[in-house]
Amino acid sequence: MSYVPTEDLLKGRVIVVTGAGDGIGRVAARTFAQHGASVVLVGRTRSKLESINDEIKQFGSTSPLIVPVDLARFDDSSSTDLQNGIRDVFGHLDGLLHNASILGPKVPIENYPYQDWQQVFQVNVHAQFLVTQSLLPLLRQSDDASVILTSSGVGRRGRAFWGAYSASKFATESLMEVLADELSSEKNIRVNSLNPGGTRTTMRARAYPEEDPATLPTPEEHMPLYLYLMGPDSRGTTGQKFDVISWNLP
Ligand code: NDP
Repeated sequence: MSYVPTEDLLKGRVIVVTGAGDGIGRVAARTFAQHGASVVLVGRTRSKLESINDEIKQFGSTSPLIVPVDLARFDDSSSTDLQNGIRDVFGHLDGLLHNASILGPKVPIENYPYQDWQQVFQVNVHAQFLVTQSLLPLLRQSDDASVILTSSGVGRRGRAFWGAYSASKFATESLMEVLADELSSEKNIRVNSLNPGGTRTTMRARAYPEEDPATLPTPEEHMPLYLYLMGPDSRGTTGQKFDVISWNLP
């Protein structure tokens, strides 16, 4: 049985999406807004955020908040700005989709440049930690908050040449488990990870240049799971690792 979200599933909720300018994040931000959420669009390229912002404004939900920020340079003061910006504009926060990531080079560990290793960890892990830490006080005040961290097949089993990307996704899974455990007594907040699997995006094309993108699912096809985890139907589900490909409704 497939999941059929109601039209107003996310009505009244404020949701942050990182990497909202392109790929899966862009589609997730649009989909959350289509289901009634106010979205905070975090991403690196202002023009891409403006374009998704224009798209969302057309169907008349609340105007999104755009936060152009390079997560490669994200630090304590960026965290404070993000938290204050959301508090000032919306006053509350109910969802956080950690989606932005970079791939880094696909080379053996023996040849992996340290600078690239650090960069991948900064974007995929350290920035994710800082964003989480700064937004937790707001999320904990919500009646029903959901945090989704984006994993990968190589975040569950390491494979040759996936280097820092794979290690960063294992770290992401660990962050999810630690956080879910720390918050387990708080019934109003859940934390889960989601592996979208091979998806027709720029990152996938970079990872598999020989592959025909037409053979892959689009981000739109994954949205039922994103909506399920972000919305009230997943209340009480926490500390779990989800895979789009094998997901069945409980
Ligand atoms: P894309 O590369 O298509 O999009 C990633 C988004 O993240 C872009 O909007 C990009 O911004 C943003 N981003 C990257 N670096 C930064 C940064 N330093 N600061 C701010 N924003 C940044 O990726 P996908 O949509 O394919 O992937 C989304 C998530 O899904 C990732 O976490 C990925 O690891 C995961 N995933 C994807 C799979 C796939 O097959 N596509 C498979 C398994 C997991 P900009 O547009 O400006 O570059």
